[in-house]
Amino acid sequence: MKSMFMFGPNVIPDSQIFYQSLHCFGLVNLKPIIPGHVLVVSKRLVPRLNELRPEEAADLMISARNISSVIEKYYKGTSVTFALQDGPDAGQTVPHVHMHIIPRRTEDYENNDDIYSDLNKFEYRKQGVDHEERKPRSELAMKLEADQLRVLFGK
Ligand code: AMP
Repeated sequence: MKSMFMFGPNVIPDSQIFYQSLHCFGLVNLKPIIPGHVLVVSKRLVPRLNELRPEEAADLMISARNISSVIEKYYKGTSVTFALQDGPDAGQTVPHVHMHIIPRRTEDYENNDDIYSDLNKFEYRKQGVDHEERKPRSELAMKLEADQLRVLFGK
């Protein structure tokens, strides 16, 4: 798989990508909030959902569907949270259309909807900057996860 994809200002190495469609790619997360928290990202670098062409927006949703069923099974989930923070005032920190796909299980959170505060844990996010304290994962850890997931998509 050869790519030169951007995620906002970040150049994404192939080793972090586990899925590709015509208009989107699946990306393992630098700072997952729970294991299996991945992202589906539009290949074209635009910040807002309404800047995607209809076929790109449709592909994003179809890709999210495809990725979610693999992720749910692989991480032994029973449900999935999808989240798309569309613009900085909605909690978006990387100005590039992407959807969070998070496998969920019974009682993984004491209060189910606390997952949304975890997505937006730190108030500084209001300024559209990611000041989270969660440690970024190593390139190797991300590569190993992407290698495992890629196989499940037949790549
Ligand atoms: P949001 O706050 O909705 O814009 O989500 C940004 C997401 O991107 C968070 O889950 C971050 O952990 C994740 N993230 C930021 N930079 C990278 C990166 N270089 N590679 C993978 N995930 C990233």
